Amino acid sequence: MPVATKIQWCDSTCNPTMGCDGCELWNTKTGVRICYAGTLHARFGGATTGYAPSFEQVTTFPGRMAEAAHWRDLCGTARKDKPWLNGLPRLIFISDMSDALSSVVTFDYLEREIIAVANSPEGKRHRWLWLTKRPERMAALSDDLQQKQIGWPDNLWAGTSVTTPATTTRIRSLLRVGDENTIRFLSVEPQWESIDLTQWLPRLDWVIQGGESGRGASPFHTEWAVDMRQQCQEAGVAYFLKQLGGVVFAKGTRIKFADGHAGTWAEWPEQLRVREMPVAGQQACSEGTGETGSACPDLDGSSKRIALNVIGVSGVRREAALKAWATRRRNEQAKQLTAVAKKALAIRRKAK
Ligand code: SF4
Repeated sequence: MPVATKIQWCDSTCNPTMGCDGCELWNTKTGVRICYAGTLHARFGGATTGYAPSFEQVTTFPGRMAEAAHWRDLCGTARKDKPWLNGLPRLIFISDMSDALSSVVTFDYLEREIIAVANSPEGKRHRWLWLTKRPERMAALSDDLQQKQIGWPDNLWAGTSVTTPATTTRIRSLLRVGDENTIRFLSVEPQWESIDLTQWLPRLDWVIQGGESGRGASPFHTEWAVDMRQQCQEAGVAYFLKQLGGVVFAKGTRIKFADGHAGTWAEWPEQLRVREMPVAGQQACSEGTGETGSACPDLDGSSKRIALNVIGVSGVRREAALKAWATRRRNEQAKQLTAVAKKALAIRRKAK
């Protein structure tokens, strides 16, 4: 299991399952096969230990999470190649080779392998970043846990991925996961179209953005990065530009980078060099603001919603965004209560 990874926004990865039901990046019916995990499975699946027999045969690997929980605590440690993570506990990305919320994976398994491990004394030393394209299943798991009076671990960040405006509907389900202490993040990668996140941002804590890489990659426009950074800044949400991708345009002109993924920020235009982290007490790391944050976040697993601390964001704008969100939430709750009251009235009338 990779204790170290090149993925810029985490330290390590862990896969309690391998394989996936597919998404817009992998669909055997339409012939779309651009998911990195799927491509690796096509090469190694069935032949190499640790892989699913084929990408479509989602396979569980119990014990991997427990093993990862014993990895060294990185809190307070400087990362040589990822200074934006300095000071943080180890960040472990759950499921870079799978979607652990694929249909055959039971809630019992997820509760035992992911929730219990994140909640264990060893697991609490780390932050677990769980990314899925099935946030509706993650929300159902969260409800299931709630019914058993098991809280969503504060050190388990809930994330979903979007690629186009049409896929942003996933965010609605993501917002139902966990409670007010849950850190929710969005991976906008590979981004295929311009995306407006304004309506969702006040309730998110972190946005990661990236262009597509690999053969036949769709183009990424640097204007999308400028725009996304601006949207996040206005909402007071941490923003992290991961990579520009393999085919990059700026103002309509193709620009090339020595790094084929354009993930080395030293090559980027200065205004794009922003990699902020969504953790209380952690300074954002961006060009010109100093290299790192030094504060070590809470070790008791109680990191709070934090985007308020992202540097360079006007507190007034953030407050206005949160106020608007609180009003929307009150209205939604009122609507739900009205619906429940109407239903009760209808039942009473029927009973008479
Ligand atoms: S959900 Fe994730 S792992 Fe599954 S096919 Fe899509 S990108 Fe690949």
